[in-house]
Amino acid sequence: MTEGHDDPAERKMRFLFQLRSRGVTDPRVLASMEKIDRGLFVRGQFADRAYEDTPLPIPCGQTISQPSVVGLMTQSLQPGPRDTVLEIGTGSGYQAAILSGLCRRVYTVDRHRRLVTEAEAIFRQLGLHNITAQVADGSRGLPDQAPFDRILVTAAAEDPPGPLLAQLKIGGIMVVPVGQSDAVQTLIRVTRTETGYDYDELRQVRFVPLVEGLGPT
Ligand code: SAH
Repeated sequence: MTEGHDDPAERKMRFLFQLRSRGVTDPRVLASMEKIDRGLFVRGQFADRAYEDTPLPIPCGQTISQPSVVGLMTQSLQPGPRDTVLEIGTGSGYQAAILSGLCRRVYTVDRHRRLVTEAEAIFRQLGLHNITAQVADGSRGLPDQAPFDRILVTAAAEDPPGPLLAQLKIGGIMVVPVGQSDAVQTLIRVTRTETGYDYDELRQVRFVPLVEGLGPT
């Protein structure tokens, strides 16, 4: 371990350098990731690894995504300052916090109540008042708030869920990992056009599965 390893300014510089070297180049996304401290979203025995570019365990058997994947997904989503964004899979709340500074409003849902409650406490602590977190089965979307300019799914589905496609505005973009949960999945970007949907394959990823129904806690 080199001297100054725990210096927050240096740690942040290394964190941002890692993101850039893995293809996160959008200045707005980098600025948002510079502002939000990932260390707040990782607790317990893994807390000291919060600034590594690696996914880490969080409660309820879930994971906080790898920072470079958060960055790449966020820049593929191209959120605009006036956009309303739906995130499926609140998890630790980190991805929602990154989106918070890049759009007008974030709705984020998780099937585990404990994760929603803990993420909400961090959003309050950081003063991120444009995030609404709720317990819901995200495979059904959030019909009461639809349609959305952007939808980001942070759990893997076998196919893009129909209700989510239906809740996307025309011109809207959805980013979603698709594939079997025990294999490498493909991150795809779906753009809704006047007449249908365009699909782009972005990269290979690995996410926990999108599971139907609410969690036990
Ligand atoms: N975006 C998170 C990481 C998400 S991990 C972060 O930044 O930390 C995937 C999350 O999706 C898990 O918390 C899991 O509980 C949730 N999930 C899986 N299936 C779901 C469903 N049908 N509805 C809502 N959330 C779901």
